Amino acid sequence: MIITKQKPFQEILKSLEGETNIFLVGCSVCADECQTGGECATKELIETLKAEGKNVTGFAVINSPCHVLVTKKDLKPHREFIDKSDSILVTACGAGAQSVSEVIEKPVRPAVDTLFLGNVERHGHFYEHCSMCGECVIAFTDGICPITNCAKGLLNGPCGGMNKGKCEISTEDRPVDCAWVLIYERLKKLNHLDKFKNIQPAKNYSKHLKPDRLILERKK
Ligand code: SF4
Ligand code: SF4
Repeated sequence: MIITKQKPFQEILKSLEGETNIFLVGCSVCADECQTGGECATKELIETLKAEGKNVTGFAVINSPCHVLVTKKDLKPHREFIDKSDSILVTACGAGAQSVSEVIEKPVRPAVDTLFLGNVERHGHFYEHCSMCGECVIAFTDGICPITNCAKGLLNGPCGGMNKGKCEISTEDRPVDCAWVLIYERLKKLNHLDKFKNIQPAKNYSKHLKPDRLILERKK
């Protein structure tokens, strides 16, 4: 799931400077789960915008606005109101916002910050465990990603900053387990400690070029 966080309202307002008529586009999937872009969050934002004197021309909450064709189809019935708008305020992630800019010729303003690909551990609790590096290496750790869970992305660890199982980036408010201690414990539990001694070569980061793309061949 793509994790998003609403921008401070003053920042949203600043991005709408000089624009009165605003159409909103939300997302009923990831952004809804993050309470940033579902129907409730979008309606709440509409009320706040109205209180600031903005004229909200309409809104649409799309099921997966990261899907360009779905966005195009779902925005079609709103065309008249979109045409009357100065800009489109998007409460979906950056991918959703750019689907909107691909299909609508109006300035797009993001209402949220897109943070990371997150695991949902329970409602409202999101954790980053994969940074989509393009070549998954978690076979050698038996399932824990060092690229993401280690603050330095080390393929061989732990580093000298580990202290009592915690990473050196830990603070009192935000303790962080050292990923390499977690990896050691996992390998030990699964009787694979021999793997811990294998030195991993440098990772080929060119496997993930930006902007990346994947075009699947049609199956016959
Ligand atoms: S190695 Fe880590 S960042 Fe890369 S794909 Fe696997 S889980 Fe994701
Ligand atoms: S202490 Fe552990 S998690 Fe933190 S940077 Fe060093 S190896 Fe990575």
